[in-house]
Amino acid sequence: MTHIAVLGSTNMDLVAYVEKAPQRGETVTGREFRTIPGGKGANQAMAAARAGATVSMIGAVGNDAFGTRLRDTLEHSGVDTDSLRTVEGPSGTAHIVVDDEGGNAIVVIPGANGTVDHLTPGDEGVIASADALLLQLEIPLDGVLAGALAARRHGVRTVLTPAPARPLSAELLAATDLLVPNEHEAATLTGRTDPRDAALSLLDQVPEVVVTLGSVGCLYLQRDAEPLVVPAPRVTAVDSTGAGDTFAGALAVALSEERPIREALTWAAAAAAISVQREGASVSMPYRPEIEALYT
Ligand code: ATP
Repeated sequence: MTHIAVLGSTNMDLVAYVEKAPQRGETVTGREFRTIPGGKGANQAMAAARAGATVSMIGAVGNDAFGTRLRDTLEHSGVDTDSLRTVEGPSGTAHIVVDDEGGNAIVVIPGANGTVDHLTPGDEGVIASADALLLQLEIPLDGVLAGALAARRHGVRTVLTPAPARPLSAELLAATDLLVPNEHEAATLTGRTDPRDAALSLLDQVPEVVVTLGSVGCLYLQRDAEPLVVPAPRVTAVDSTGAGDTFAGALAVALSEERPIREALTWAAAAAAISVQREGASVSMPYRPEIEALYT
């Protein structure tokens, strides 16, 4: 079995469903409230575990009830949480208001995720034993960089989802093997709105780029090779939340199994296409037999 390490965030999403979001100073009565385990790190870890890898989650939760539930949720999907620290204070939370038109407003409080700005020797050992390290940007950039450099020291492939989008240092990009932005993140990183132009300019700094394009599929570019366009399976989407994380998690598994790139991208697109047909982020992520069934 392949081993994937994930260094990143765990968040509890606190979601209020309302007809119309309140304006400043206004109070409205909502329809429903849900607590949904999330965070891009945890989502990618669950996607990779369900796709068939042994997965280690490196990060932090708070010593509150959310922390216990976040850890339990990861373990329930088979993710090893020995490297998920419990720290004094609150877990990360995302406070989300969803209105009847599907619009949303979100406040993220990093909580325990804000403490993940360094690696312990144990974390480095976990990364060293992995086939790939998955990274995103919901923990401090110092932590992301420490993870990428540790992976580099041990010859472990790094896969970075640059979300939420923000400028990245040359040092972090130089320690990235595969960058997986969506088209908005690619535009933010490069100032180029055309995904192909954006990916081409990113190739100056990273050897491989996959730009995800929602229902269209994805675009893969590698230095000195023809671009590859992999269409997404045509499905009826119900909720695309977490599609990008499902894609990244499944892609890391397929690449670690040394599948050729087109096959790996097609497999990841199958996993993401299953997830968009179901409500929710982490709960919608498919298990390996379901991915195989759509892939073949
Ligand atoms: P999110 O933020 O919702 O998790 P994202 O913006 O990071 O997603 P997208 O580019 O929207 O990423 O989607 C990632 C991948 O998921 C796409 O490359 C595609 O393979 C798959 N996907 C997304 N939406 C659909 C859809 N409607 N039908 C089929 N596949 C989809």
